[in-house]
Amino acid sequence: MVHALTLNAGSSSLKFGLFELGDGRGDPTPRILGEIDRIGSQPHMRATREDGSVLSDAPLPAEDAADHAGALARALDLIARERPHAQLRAVGHRVVHGGPEHAAPARLTPEVLADLATLEPLAPLHQPHNLAGVRAALAAFPDAVQVACFDTAFHRHHPWVNDTFALPRAYYDKGVRRYGFHGLSYDYISGRLAEIAPHLHSGRVIVAHLGNGASMCGMIGGRSIASTMGFSALDGLPMGTRSGQLDPGVVLYLMEQEGMSVAEISDLLYRKSGLLGLSGLSNDMRRLEEADTDAAREAIAYFVFRIRRELGALAAALGGLDALVFCGGIGENSVLIRHKVCEGMGWIGLELDDARNARGETLVSTDLSRVRVLVIPTDEEIVIARAARDMLGRVG
Ligand code: ADP
Repeated sequence: MVHALTLNAGSSSLKFGLFELGDGRGDPTPRILGEIDRIGSQPHMRATREDGSVLSDAPLPAEDAADHAGALARALDLIARERPHAQLRAVGHRVVHGGPEHAAPARLTPEVLADLATLEPLAPLHQPHNLAGVRAALAAFPDAVQVACFDTAFHRHHPWVNDTFALPRAYYDKGVRRYGFHGLSYDYISGRLAEIAPHLHSGRVIVAHLGNGASMCGMIGGRSIASTMGFSALDGLPMGTRSGQLDPGVVLYLMEQEGMSVAEISDLLYRKSGLLGLSGLSNDMRRLEEADTDAAREAIAYFVFRIRRELGALAAALGGLDALVFCGGIGENSVLIRHKVCEGMGWIGLELDDARNARGETLVSTDLSRVRVLVIPTDEEIVIARAARDMLGRVG
C-alpha cells in the first residue's frame, strides 16, 4: 500500500506522520502520528495510531537520536514495526521559509534544496533545522518524491502594501518583506471553510491561529490579504515566549543603552518574552488561566487586547468582516480567551453565544450575529500529506 511520510523538523524535535494514500485521489488517511523531542540531549518518542491508541511514549537512548538523521531512523523503525508493508513513495516536509518566489509546494531537488539554504538568514532559528530534516530524509529515501511545504507560501499573493516595509526599496529587493507565516494552518482552515460554509469562505474572514506561536490572517475568497506576522515569526501578536509587535526603537535602546548583543536580544525576544515574560510564570495558557496572580491576569489581558486590536485592523484591511475563525491550541480549547476576544464586539456585528462557546461547538456565535464565529481544529500535517500525494501524482 502506498504511503506518504510527513516531517516537521524543529530545533530539537521531529514530528512525523504516516499517511496512507489509497488510490491517490481521496484524502490521505493518517495511520501514525508522532514526535521525538529533545533530540541531542534526552530524546523521547511519543506516537499514536489513528484511533489515539499509544504506540510509543518512552525515552530513547541519547546516542540513538543524537541528531535529526538518528531521530528519523528511530521513527522509521517504529513505522516498519507497526506497518511492515507500507511503501513510502512520498515525503512531505514543513519548511518555514520559501522566500519571495515559492507560492506553492516545491519538489525537493538538489537545486531547490540549495536555494532554500540561501534563505537560512531569513529564518535562522527554523530553516536550518527544517533543512536538516530534509537532508536526512533525502539520504534515507533517495527514490521517494519529496516535497517542501512552506509556511510563507499561503501569503505570497497578498497585496504589495502588505508585503513591504517603508524602508528604501533596495531592502525589499533583498528580501526584507512581510512574508507572513502559519500558512499551512491557514491553508487547511481555508479549505475546511470551503467545505462546511462555502458562503463564508468566499467572503471576508479573519482566522486567529492561537497556539504557542500565534498570528492572525485576513482572507477574502480564501486567499491571504494581510497577516500579523511579517518578516519573521516575531511580529504581531504576543506568543508563548515571543514578544510580538515591538517598536524597533526598543531594539536600538537594548543595543545602545543595555549593551546587548544580537544573540542576547534574539534570546530575549524569541524565548523570554510574550506570556512567559509578562507573567513571570509560564508560556502555557492553561497554567495562566489557573494561576491566581495579577501578573498572569495582566499577561492574558495583553494577549487579548492585541488580538482585539488586530481584529479591528484586519477587518479594516478586508473592508468588513463576515466570519472569525479560532484555531490552534488556545483558539480551539480556551473558552475564556474566545469569550474575552469577542466581548463587546457588537459594534462590528459580532455576538458570541456563551453556551455554544462553553460547549466548544463549531459555530459559537448567536443566530443573530451578523459575523459568524467558528472554532475549527487545524491540521497542518494533512496539508503536507496532500501536497506529497499531489506531487507523487504529478511526477511519481
Ligand atoms: P504550538 O504552536 O506549539 O503548536 P499549540 O497549538 O499546541 O502550540 O498550543 C499550545 C497552547 O494551547 C498552550 O499555551 C496551551 O496552554 C494552550 N491550550 C491547550 N489546551 C488549552 C485549554 N483547554 N485551555 C487553555 N489553553 C489551552
